[in-house]
Amino acid sequence: MAGFGWFWKAMGSSATANQKKSKTIVSESTKAADRLADAPDTEVVDIARSCIGTGEDRAIVDAPLLLAALREAASRTVGLRPFDVQLQGALRMLVGDVVEMATGEGKTLVGGLTAVGYGLQGKKVHVITVNSFLAGRDEAWMGPLLDFFGLSHGAIREEAGADERRDVYARDVIFTAVNEAGFDVLRDQLITRRADAVRTPADVAVIDEADSVMVDEALVPLVLAGSEPGPAPAGQITDLVRRMEENRHFTVSGDHRSIFLTDEGAAFIEKELGIDSLYGEVGEAGDNADADGDSGEAAPGPLLSQVNVALHAQHLLTRDVHYIVRDGKVALIDNARGRVAELQRWPDGLQAAVEAKEGLKVTDGGRILDQITVQALIGLYPQKCGMTGTAVAASDQLRQFYDLSVSVIEPNVPTKRFDEVDHVFASDEDRDAAVIDHIVEVQGTGQPVLVGTQDIAASERIADALVLRGVDCNVLNAKNHEAEAATIAEAGRPGRVTVSTQMAGRGTDIRLGGSGDAEDAEHARVVDLGGLHVVGVGRFRSQRLDNQLRGRAGRQGDPGSTVFFVSLEDDMVAVGGAGDELTAQPDADGRLEQKKVLQFVDHCQRVTEGQMLDIHATTWKYNKLINDQRQIINARRDAVLDTETAWDDLSLHDVEKAGELTAAGIDHAVLVQAAREIMLYHLDHEWSDHLAYLDDIRESIHLRAIANESPIDEFHRMSIAAFGELAGRAVAKARETFSEAEITAGGVDLGGLGLHKPSATWTYMVNDNPLSSGGGSMMGSIAAMFR
Ligand code: ADP
Repeated sequence: MAGFGWFWKAMGSSATANQKKSKTIVSESTKAADRLADAPDTEVVDIARSCIGTGEDRAIVDAPLLLAALREAASRTVGLRPFDVQLQGALRMLVGDVVEMATGEGKTLVGGLTAVGYGLQGKKVHVITVNSFLAGRDEAWMGPLLDFFGLSHGAIREEAGADERRDVYARDVIFTAVNEAGFDVLRDQLITRRADAVRTPADVAVIDEADSVMVDEALVPLVLAGSEPGPAPAGQITDLVRRMEENRHFTVSGDHRSIFLTDEGAAFIEKELGIDSLYGEVGEAGDNADADGDSGEAAPGPLLSQVNVALHAQHLLTRDVHYIVRDGKVALIDNARGRVAELQRWPDGLQAAVEAKEGLKVTDGGRILDQITVQALIGLYPQKCGMTGTAVAASDQLRQFYDLSVSVIEPNVPTKRFDEVDHVFASDEDRDAAVIDHIVEVQGTGQPVLVGTQDIAASERIADALVLRGVDCNVLNAKNHEAEAATIAEAGRPGRVTVSTQMAGRGTDIRLGGSGDAEDAEHARVVDLGGLHVVGVGRFRSQRLDNQLRGRAGRQGDPGSTVFFVSLEDDMVAVGGAGDELTAQPDADGRLEQKKVLQFVDHCQRVTEGQMLDIHATTWKYNKLINDQRQIINARRDAVLDTETAWDDLSLHDVEKAGELTAAGIDHAVLVQAAREIMLYHLDHEWSDHLAYLDDIRESIHLRAIANESPIDEFHRMSIAAFGELAGRAVAKARETFSEAEITAGGVDLGGLGLHKPSATWTYMVNDNPLSSGGGSMMGSIAAMFR
């Protein structure tokens, strides 16, 4: 950041000034407390309301009094009297910041107070959580506080149908998992009657685990797909691919994100299949490819795509790391959380390829109807704020992508956690042996241990080794996630060992001695033993993620300690340190204690963090373009939904048919709706084709590594050209359909013309852990192509 020192200084000093200011406001609020203590409930509510201005912006005009009223209400309803630091946090969130508050500081209550503050200003609030379990839990917990102020509230349940969702969305403050919020946006973008929409847009998003949502998962596409047979690789291709050899028939990029077919590999397939050229076939997207007139190149054929997905499934996706096989089905593991991602699938071909690889029944492929990234979803909220234990390290991204500032809130009680220096080993084997010895030893003292691993395979490996040594442990991973929250809550009991993948059980607090109220004696015992001991197996791809794990220990002034066991073979070290030389002499246990080794690991992590930021920035450029195009389509959709424009156009185009229909006495409203459905069918279908085409060009740019032109520019050029023709084509097809379709008093029969809407839809997240071998194939290849 050379040259920008003044900027960061200015930022730092304004942060300090804000901190001072909010402390002053909170201490002023304490003075108002007496006045409220004896006031009846209704008066507390009235006082709170009086703190909101009557101007159009409904600004908070008396912050100290408002905070006092919130504190009083929380004590009366939730039974928790907010600490000063919690009021400070709520205050900064009401200004629109992301606040950093450590684990166990009571962020749920801070979020509740913030929601009330916005609610009193007449704003609709969405509290966004990382999963539906937390949305439900937090809503039930904060409900009484919201009731107190007469604010209606609800949580979006994963299982909820359209009617229930519509009802919940209409309320003042709702709690929802980020993916549910996104899926509802997508489904609402496909309605053909306004009344079918479930969402009521909100004014404010209050985002929990803000860095996870807005940075780590920002580019995860939420996808809505419809059933339609997709290009599943034939079993034959799966068999061929299994016989192919790395570095001969294909190469894998150093970061394990992308796989490339070599000429020899292509020749092998061509020979085995007895075809002339794998590249010769013109893809299904041929029509669209013409839009890109000047390149004269066809999109890759379906056969080539099949070979590519089969290679990807075979050589980049690993069972128990990227997916598990359960009940004869492939279940994806959500890398960010190390748990099974229910109802999620990979994009059509890849899912089928993995099923073929595992010898399972290949399910239907599908068609991607629409998609949105988490970042674009968050962008839909006019106002946002957030909270997390680790915001500072994400400041750059939060500012760059969301224009949000970070406020650090000091802990209520000073932290006493001890972070030990890393234990680094040359090999995974030495590291694992040392980590097991370490856990066995600590557990022997009775101190509870939480072990954080990078993936499920590692957690099982560690757990198995512990069992062999006679240590009982709880494993938190995709295979038993239902009990996750309950299990993690007990991870602070004496002698307990809990092995967890990344952030499994996030959002659930670990209290020393256990979760119950009657655990005070146990609490004291665990405090004497040194509190919770956190062991990281491998450093994460950013310091922030390391800190998320470390933050599990030492909550609310409790003692606690953390240590990471690193191997030079870890993904993060291998990727971040690629090309660097390191010579060091291990001791008898294989441990490398030299200072330069420790610095090297930090260096690798910084390099990785830099790569992640670059990938985020470039990938966002790509996503933003799709998102902008979607907004244009949405504006058109809105017009079609809310006006008679479709009927106006179609009836004008085929005056004769329109005349006949009217003469037949069909109700005007029926005709308008029929025209609307015809127009929307084609618009949506063209959009879906467009997305498939974009996927193809992305893939072809990636495969062909076009020289002399930057891939993003090339992508822009081709996608804009194709988009330019989309609407015109939709209208032309709609006119054709209008002339051909049978329209009666019962409406239009699109099925009669073979124009079927998908018989079922499902949603999934394409997850991406860019350091492991591309759990999200698309993301992996986008990332690779933009570097
Ligand atoms: P975080 O999300 O910040 O890790 P939680 O919201 O899960 O923390 O709360 C952690 C624990 O602290 C909960 O058990 C909660 O009951 C408790 N807690 C929160 N606020 C207060 C308070 N003002 N006084 C006492 N206990 C509190």
